[in-house]
Amino acid sequence: MVVDTAAPAAQARETLSFSESVDRNFAKAAALLDYPRGLLEQIRVCNKVYYVQFPVRIRGEIQVIQGWRAEHSHHRLPCKGGIRYAETVGQDEIMALAALMTYKCAIVNVPFGGAKGGIKINPRNYTEEELERITRRYTVELIQKNFIGPSLDVPAPDYGTGPREMAWIADTYMAFRPDDINALACVTGKPVEQGGVRGRTEATGLGIYFGIREALSLPELVRPLGLEPGLEGKRVIVQGFGNVGYHAARFLQQEGGAIITAVIEWDGAVYNPDGIDVEELARHRRETGSILYYPKAQTIPMEERDTVLEYDCDILLPAALESQIHYHNAPRIRAKIIAEGANGPTTAAAEEILLQRGIFILPDIFLNAGGVVVSYFEWLKNIAHVRLGRLEKRFEERTNQRLVEMVERLTGKTLTTPERQLLLRGPDEVDLVRSGLEDTMISAFHELWEIHKTRKGVQDLRTAAFVCAIDKIATAYFQLGIFP
Ligand code: NAD
Repeated sequence: MVVDTAAPAAQARETLSFSESVDRNFAKAAALLDYPRGLLEQIRVCNKVYYVQFPVRIRGEIQVIQGWRAEHSHHRLPCKGGIRYAETVGQDEIMALAALMTYKCAIVNVPFGGAKGGIKINPRNYTEEELERITRRYTVELIQKNFIGPSLDVPAPDYGTGPREMAWIADTYMAFRPDDINALACVTGKPVEQGGVRGRTEATGLGIYFGIREALSLPELVRPLGLEPGLEGKRVIVQGFGNVGYHAARFLQQEGGAIITAVIEWDGAVYNPDGIDVEELARHRRETGSILYYPKAQTIPMEERDTVLEYDCDILLPAALESQIHYHNAPRIRAKIIAEGANGPTTAAAEEILLQRGIFILPDIFLNAGGVVVSYFEWLKNIAHVRLGRLEKRFEERTNQRLVEMVERLTGKTLTTPERQLLLRGPDEVDLVRSGLEDTMISAFHELWEIHKTRKGVQDLRTAAFVCAIDKIATAYFQLGIFP
C-alpha cells in the first residue's frame, strides 16, 4: 500500500528533532502505564549535560574543537554510552542517544544509566597523531568535570571511534588517577591487550544476528509478513559497512545462511541479487579503500546510493547513522523487516508509514544492545581483575573428561582424538562472552514479544521496548525510595 505522502500530521512529525522523536516514543509507551507523572518525567529527562570547547594544535594552527557528554540517567551507576566522532554531532543528538542508552540498558538488564559523548569532527580530516591529541584532551576535560570514571560514567566506541580511541582514553585516565585500582574500567571497548574483553569488537553485530535470528524463528511473527520461519536464504540489504554493519552482515551470512544482496556506504553501494561475500568485500575495501568496484557486484554511484535502501529485500539493516528512513523514502521501502542496527535510523513520521504498511521493525534499543551487554562484561572483568573463565576452565575440562571416560567404559567404545578434544574443551573468555550475549538477546526478545502480545495498546515492538524499559527504571526508583 502506498501512503498519501501529503498527510500533514505525519509531515509535521518529520520536523521533530532526534530527541523529540525519542520523547515521542517514550510518551506513546508512558500513556499505557500507570505511574505518577513526576516519576515518568524523571525517567524521561536528561540529568546532566557537559558542553566543552577546547583548543588543539593542528598542523601549526590552533583549532577549537567542540565536544559533549550527556548523562541521561543516574538511577543506576555508572552511566554508560559510546563516544562518536562526526561532523553532525550536536547537543540534541547526544542527549537523544544518551536517553536511548538508558532504555537499552534497562531492556537487556545491564545495571547502568545511559550516557553518550561526541566530538564534532570528521575523523577522516585528521592524522592518527592529531586524533590522539584530540581524544586525550577531550578525556582530560571529562576527568576535570567528573564525567568519566569506573563508578561514574564509562564511555565506549560508537560511530567514528574504536578500540584505538578507547585505549587513548584509558591511558589518559590512568595517568590522572594512578591511585584508582579500577582505573581500567573507566572505558570499555579497549583492545584485549589493554584490558579489553575478547568478543567486544564484534558484539553489536553478533547481538543483531542473535536478535534477528530469534525474531525470524517465530512463525506467528514472520508468516503475516509473507515469509517462512528461519534466516536461511533471507535477502538482506546493509547500510553502513563499519563496525556494526560489517559484523552483523558477516554473522547473518556465515552463521545464519542469509544472502547479503546489497551493501551501502557513504561513497556509493554494491549490489548483487545472488549475494555478496562479506569477507571478500571487506578484503576488497582493505585493498582499495572503498567497497565500490568490487568485481562480483554492480557498483551504484554516490548520487544514487540512497535509492538502494528501496530495493526489494526481506530485511533492511540500517547500520550507519540516524534518520536514514524518513517521511520521503518510507512509502517506497520494500523490505518486510527493518532491523535497526544504527541508533534512531527511522524517523517518527517514517515509522508511522512503515507500520501502516505492515512492515515489522526490530527497534534499535533492543537490537543493537549487544555492544553494551559485552561492555558490561568487560567492565566486570576490569573491576574483578580476572579474565573471564580463569576460575572454571580447567575444572570444566576435568569434569568433561570424567564424563567421557565413564561413557567409554559403559559403552565399550573409544572416541577419536578430534571427538575427544571437542567434548573436553572448557570455555575460553570469548565463548563465555558470546554465550552470555546470546542468552541476553534471546531472553530480551521474548520479554518484548510477550509485552507486545499481552499488554493492552502495545501495537509494535518499539512501544513494547519502551514499556519494558520504563517498568524496570520505575522499579529501580521505587527501590531507591525516591518515589514512594
Ligand atoms: P562506524 O563508524 O564503525 O561505521 C559506520 C559506517 O557507516 C562507516 O563505514 C561509514 O563510512 C558509513 N556511512 C556513513 N554515512 C553513510 C551513508 N550515508 N550511507 C551509508 N553508509 C554510511 O560506526 P558503528 O560503530 O558501526 O556505528 C554505526 C551505528 O550503530 C551508529 O548509529 C551507532 O550509534 C550505532 N551503534 C554502534 C555500536 C557499537 O558498538 N559500535 C553499538 C550500538 C549502536
